[in-house]
Amino acid sequence: MNPNKSFKTWTTKNGVQITRIMGGRSNVFLCSVGGKHLLVDTSVPRLWSKLQKRLHQMGIMKLDYLILTHAHYDHAGNAFLIQHEFGARVVIHAHEEAFLLTGNNPIPKGTNFIVKPLVQLLGKIFLNYLRYIPCKPGFVIHSDIQLPDFGNTVSIIHTPGHSPGSQSILIDNEIALVGDAMFGIFKGSIFPPFACNVTQMIESWGRLLETEIIWFLPSHGSSNHRSLVQKEYLKRRESYQT
Ligand SMILES: [Zn+2]
Repeated sequence: MNPNKSFKTWTTKNGVQITRIMGGRSNVFLCSVGGKHLLVDTSVPRLWSKLQKRLHQMGIMKLDYLILTHAHYDHAGNAFLIQHEFGARVVIHAHEEAFLLTGNNPIPKGTNFIVKPLVQLLGKIFLNYLRYIPCKPGFVIHSDIQLPDFGNTVSIIHTPGHSPGSQSILIDNEIALVGDAMFGIFKGSIFPPFACNVTQMIESWGRLLETEIIWFLPSHGSSNHRSLVQKEYLKRRESYQT
């Protein structure tokens, strides 16, 4: 049986393959180019053995990079284990490095009337639950870059707002892995329920739209087409301007 068949995959015009090896709770993407492999995000700590098994199923014993879109526990929760078991160089934005080094992170503010009071009420209680094994990154990003060893296919840009050091991974200027800069679980909307700075997040959508990206793959939910991102950007831009 070809294990790839059970996972959703995207292939860019230049043949770069992106596979969603974990879905549901939090997406984990594997990107393969010319025999090199990188992982984007790691899901939550309690799903470690599932993640490990999936990678082995795909024949992956070694990863060149683990790129973290940001340091929240449902993205960076297994970073330490991926680094040690698969030899991945862990990539994080400078604004998130301190969080990764401590395995601890403030919860972003809620963006709507349901989530906002919940975060205020339960935030401190949940903080312990959201801790994970600290990890020392191998590559700290200070400005937008083209990832070494991957030809001209993978670049990383700063898309803050959901968290200060949120970053997006652009593959072949066609598909972007955007972390929590937007969500894919609410029909007709990309607006995340949590964000540190909503204005900044909407500006990041604008940055992403300056590229030629067609599909935006968030960490939660399914892909967003460029037309929806464009529509949301134009709609929200006015109301959140400072
Ligand atoms: Zn997050």
